[in-house]
Amino acid sequence: MKCTRCRKTAHVSLPSHHSGFCADCYPLFFTKQVETAIRREKMFTHEDRILVALSGGKDSLALMLELKLQGYDVTGLHIDLGIPNSSEKARRKVEDFCTLHGLPLRVFEMAAWGLPIPDVKKYVKRPVCAVCGKMKRHHFNRIAVEEGFDVLATGHNLDDEVARLFANTLRWDTAYLSDQGPVLPASEGFVRKVKPLFRLSEYETANYAFLKGIEIHSDPCPYAGGASFTGHKELWGELEHRSPGQKLQFYQAFLKNGKPAFARQEKETGAVLAPCTECGSPTSAEICSVCRIRAAVAESRAQEG
Ligand code: SF4
Ligand code: ZN
Repeated sequence: MKCTRCRKTAHVSLPSHHSGFCADCYPLFFTKQVETAIRREKMFTHEDRILVALSGGKDSLALMLELKLQGYDVTGLHIDLGIPNSSEKARRKVEDFCTLHGLPLRVFEMAAWGLPIPDVKKYVKRPVCAVCGKMKRHHFNRIAVEEGFDVLATGHNLDDEVARLFANTLRWDTAYLSDQGPVLPASEGFVRKVKPLFRLSEYETANYAFLKGIEIHSDPCPYAGGASFTGHKELWGELEHRSPGQKLQFYQAFLKNGKPAFARQEKETGAVLAPCTECGSPTSAEICSVCRIRAAVAESRAQEG
């Protein structure tokens, strides 16, 4: 196959775009997809301060590098989860990456905050990933708000988005369906959240990371018991193979036709939120659920002596 742009031998074949690219031209395709996502969804401008959530995986690091190359004002935020034999490796990748590219980085340590994820696993009677995900979202938002960032960007790609949309559709979860999308607008106590890689598949992002020489953290988390949505991603991989372009079509048609209908339905049901008396994050109770979990774990630890 020849490169669609320069006619040299193509290295990356993209049936869903009826094209293929050589190693030199492929990053230009990637850049164009990210530019289109930012422009069409009005995600942010060059005047905005952008906080980028960095896990150390290919998606978040590829996003950070691409936004920097496009001239945006980006700062990385890594949450050190305190998981032995895992978190320190992820953190090192993020720190090395930011040093190499001269990028500002904040690191938030769950252990220093009093709730390393191993303690969640030990003391909280809920699936560890559900609580861990909640903690990460909480601190990403809190830090973005406290430090005056205009927007929080995450590395969710098209496969992540389609798998989540599919899961929400299987349950007809209208609350989640009304909220899902590449942009979640800011509201009282919540920063705007954006997903600039939503037009790019996992395969496309992995190719970019590889061709840009990004060193990624790829070891699975020791607590991941069958990563979420894996089955749905496999199903969609099969559909995409049979009918290239299906994933992006499904997602874009949802944004155009499905989401507005669900948003109208959910409008009237919003709860009244006020700042948590412990951490200031918006909550419908006096103390937010994250602060309550932290206090409950501290109590269990104390009882154990
Ligand atoms: Fe947290 Fe679960 Fe992800 Fe591990 S796999 S980082 S515990 S959400
Ligand atoms: Zn709180």
